[in-house]
Amino acid sequence: MRKIVVVLSIVSVALFAFQNKESKEGKKESAKAFPLDNLDKSVSPCDDFYQYAIGGWLKNNPVPNTESRWSSFNIVRDANNAKLKTILEEFSSKKNEKGSMEQKIGDFYLSAIDTKKADELGISVLEDEFAKIDALKSPEDIINLMAHHESIGVNSLFGFYVGQDDKNSEAYISFLYQSGLGLPDRDYYLKEDEKNKSIQLDYTEHIERMLSLAGIENADEKASSIYAIEKTLASKSMSRVERRDPEKTYNKYSLAQLQEENPDLNWEVYFSALGIKEIKEMVVSQPKYLNAINSYMDSIPLESFQDYFKWKVINSFASSLSSDFVAQDFKFYENTLSGKKEMKPEWERALNKVNGNIGQLLGKAFAERHFPEEAKEDVAQMVENLRTVFKERILALEWMSEETKEKALEKLASFNKKIGYPDKWRDYSSLEITPDNLVQNTMNSRRFNFKYMVDKLGKPVDKDEWFMTPQTVNAYYSSSKNEIVFPAGILQPPFYNVDADHAINYGGIGAVIGHEFTHGFDDQGSKYDAKGNLANWWSEVDREKFDGRANLVVEQFNGYEPLEDLFVNGKLTLGENIADLGGATLAYYALKKQVEKEKMENKNIDGFNYKQRFFLGWAQVWHMNMTEEELRKRIATDSHSPGQYRVIGPLSNMSEFAEAFGCKEGDPMVNPTDKKAVIW
Ligand SMILES: [Zn+2]
Repeated sequence: MRKIVVVLSIVSVALFAFQNKESKEGKKESAKAFPLDNLDKSVSPCDDFYQYAIGGWLKNNPVPNTESRWSSFNIVRDANNAKLKTILEEFSSKKNEKGSMEQKIGDFYLSAIDTKKADELGISVLEDEFAKIDALKSPEDIINLMAHHESIGVNSLFGFYVGQDDKNSEAYISFLYQSGLGLPDRDYYLKEDEKNKSIQLDYTEHIERMLSLAGIENADEKASSIYAIEKTLASKSMSRVERRDPEKTYNKYSLAQLQEENPDLNWEVYFSALGIKEIKEMVVSQPKYLNAINSYMDSIPLESFQDYFKWKVINSFASSLSSDFVAQDFKFYENTLSGKKEMKPEWERALNKVNGNIGQLLGKAFAERHFPEEAKEDVAQMVENLRTVFKERILALEWMSEETKEKALEKLASFNKKIGYPDKWRDYSSLEITPDNLVQNTMNSRRFNFKYMVDKLGKPVDKDEWFMTPQTVNAYYSSSKNEIVFPAGILQPPFYNVDADHAINYGGIGAVIGHEFTHGFDDQGSKYDAKGNLANWWSEVDREKFDGRANLVVEQFNGYEPLEDLFVNGKLTLGENIADLGGATLAYYALKKQVEKEKMENKNIDGFNYKQRFFLGWAQVWHMNMTEEELRKRIATDSHSPGQYRVIGPLSNMSEFAEAFGCKEGDPMVNPTDKKAVIW
């Protein structure tokens, strides 16, 4: 939706459970941190370090039928889903006090796993929503309906949310942004190559089938007209690369200006229907898009609008409807677009729904049982070690002036860190959950979450809020809060292993910490100051030098070709690639300090010194197999490069890597000096 936060990796719903105290045996074995048969020693580390470090793993770990990619993130999630399953089964099988955490989690799970009930209910669960659409008459009705859809998580011609004001991080403000597509990106509609054309046809057919299942007549005609509307929206949309520029997407409007520029939409009606009593100003992320929609809406016949809205509602709840809808939804979104061959077992799909709707509540139950406090202290110490190294490196930068350095250090010093789980938990008491209607539970949860968001307007910014649930296997940087956050979910092997040596932990979570720190200084984050405001603190000359160095990274990644004629988008992935390069460098030097302090320089494990093990550790984090469909989708939509390039990309810029493995100028893993990117 919006770049509130920059995450380490896009993962679907990833859950985790920490190692229990009683299961912490096997210290020696886990100290190895990765099995040696992950390696492929037939390849030189200086030719292709990815293949060398994890070639064995890649060969032995094909993508399972229920997945579109297979990586550490998925493995960590799977190993622990079983533990979450235990919580869900326990809560759902006992008699709980109405309104308690156990009752809400248990009943949501029951409603999600009861596929018989969903089949019985069929499309009737959406009757009320369809009736609202059938009753549309005037433009005012339409804008009212769009506001209603926003509140139940159904995407529409444009979207709304409340977030921190980029230029005043102490306050919340409303945002309007482009929306309304059913395919993953505008380019899916606009590119006319064979692959895209075939997806366009499949998508139109998918809409037709879903409408037919819902008992809607003339589904083929209607599907074409819906597709045409979405294609128009796509053609007016800003590209992902353009949207990376925070100045371009920050356009402040008063209500009067908004009304004057977009006169065909009644904005007072819209905001009031969203539950906002008084609105003076807002940020419009893509003003031209909104202008275009304002004029375009006039030309859409009422009936076409109704078809479009029905499709949006069906699509939004598809995975919670009866099994015929669920199967068709899987067929298009998971199989055609992602290459998954089989659906996940019912319990796991149900778990994902609990997690997706009331994830914080489940996270609380989880953290109470499975979070070891010692990991928190250990990782907090690593964060400070990385911060120290970053400070030293900023002071030593040759390309940056003293005055900009001062500002950079001020920003670095004010980074906040959060580790494990929130200090304060959200209050779910007004949310109603029953055991027998999944769509209703989903709607209630979405409305509850929407109200929680809208209620922020006018209040001071909640510094304790988390944008990820504790069980998520991921991490993030928030530019408006200037903070880095590491949920409990990522604090385990191969990212963090309490029993492993420093090299492995710095190559894993250490580099992840460095990655998140560096996001504060990537192409986007560097435009926000120490207080989290979008405000320039760079001298013009320093910014030019930064851009010159960043351009080397853009060109480097533009050259990667994972499939014939399919290239990584260097501009789309720039922020992540800068973060990986900075993260690996910072962690390497933090490790070096630690090893020198403890006088462990000469300790070899499995025949590798600590420097080599550091880079091997980083590679283990990114071992990843992917279906071709998923790869194509991610190249078009994901700001992260595929795992392979997250390893060879940064390391081939690092002289520290070349030194560790004795690689020479001219080797594929050593970028030529004039192309070598060193930023932080
Ligand atoms: Zn990132």
